Amino acid sequence: MPHPYPTLWHPYAQMQTQPKAPRVVGGRGAWLHLEDDEALLDATCSWWCMIHGYGHPRLVNALKAQADTLCHVMLGGLTHDPAQQLADALVRITPEGLNHVFFSDSGSVGMEVAMKMAVQYQVQRGHPEKHRMLSLMRAYHGDTTGCMAVCDPEEGMHSLFAGFLPRHHFAPAPTAPFDAPREAVEADIAALRQALERHHHEIAALLMEPLLQAAGGLNMTSPHYVRTARKLCDEFGVLLVFDEVATGFGRTGKCFAAEHADVTPDIMVLSKGLTGGYLGHAATLATSRVYEAFLSDDPGHAFMHGPTFMGNPLACRLALESLAIFEEEDYLGKIATLNDVLRHELLEDTALRQHSDVDDVRVLGATAVIEAKAAECLEGVQAFARQHGVWLRPFGRWLYTMPAYVTTPDEMRQITSVMKAWFLDPDQ
Ligand SMILES: *Cc1c(COP(=O)(O)O)cnc(C)c1O
Repeated sequence: MPHPYPTLWHPYAQMQTQPKAPRVVGGRGAWLHLEDDEALLDATCSWWCMIHGYGHPRLVNALKAQADTLCHVMLGGLTHDPAQQLADALVRITPEGLNHVFFSDSGSVGMEVAMKMAVQYQVQRGHPEKHRMLSLMRAYHGDTTGCMAVCDPEEGMHSLFAGFLPRHHFAPAPTAPFDAPREAVEADIAALRQALERHHHEIAALLMEPLLQAAGGLNMTSPHYVRTARKLCDEFGVLLVFDEVATGFGRTGKCFAAEHADVTPDIMVLSKGLTGGYLGHAATLATSRVYEAFLSDDPGHAFMHGPTFMGNPLACRLALESLAIFEEEDYLGKIATLNDVLRHELLEDTALRQHSDVDDVRVLGATAVIEAKAAECLEGVQAFARQHGVWLRPFGRWLYTMPAYVTTPDEMRQITSVMKAWFLDPDQ
């Protein structure tokens, strides 16, 4: 007897009620190809990672060439060119001072690595009591146990697990927008300072998604907040960890969000766009100050982590090719063009901003969100968008786009016009 339920279990999905998932058979550029000759313009580039779009010939060729040479080898005690070259390239392009690269296989694991690194750093610098994290409300850092414990404990999706998770500290989510004047950021900064004053004696690191809290509702904040966080961390002997899994590789308009604030964190995590999305991989970068805390005659002071697939040659070769494309084809220019379209079509649309279901409209780099007053306002939007040839996947109250950077201005307008039509012209 065949089992009555599907064998394939989808993420974040109520399997009892979720409609049948569209079947993807291929893709090209910003377009997903579905069965029956349907094509959908992907407004979210597969959870923000497919920054070069689908079927990019240079990435596909890099993957094939590396597959002919070496698909995998352990990094324990061995090394290889793709991993070494990628480490060098990441040190070159990330903020000055991040000189050491530890690879792993996903954004969540990259964050676990960052947190373990911070705790072991504090232990080996004589502060074993500094073993908790300070995170921000509305944060999202991944779905593994360590990461769930530093995601927003209330609005996040992990409240079921409260009894299972270790306890950390949280500061309020920053509320001042990206372009807020300094005075408007003072309240956010005061709240952060207060959390540090109260708890710094047991805090190893402050974690933040700089400028853009992504999965927590595309909450944007000011570079001044990020810059001040750096100063506060130094004042209180706390490491600063930037989770640039979502913001890294251009999403906020500069290659890394840290650059808007001209700040070097002690530890920085990259994933999603790292390989252009073509394979899962992550990098946790550290400054020499952090790295040196692990140097000792005692083998037990080595960093105690080592995922099987860290530094996978296929992933590293893809990441190198992805970076080359990013630099050679002026991706920051493409992102600026997308930003112009998003601002013009969404931010400057008064009817949209004043619509009774719309709470706020925000744009930063190649990211835009229409925040609805309630999740119910977005019920049915996905089917509506599909009828208009666009793949949108809102969550909660947030209808957003984070397109591939190869999306053309016309394609970008096709996406924004569907997002707008849902509110302004739903019968179209
Ligand atoms: C997606 C994401 C993660 C988790 O990455 P996975 O590869 O899904 O484990 C962590 N932090 C941020 C900011 C993210 O957007």
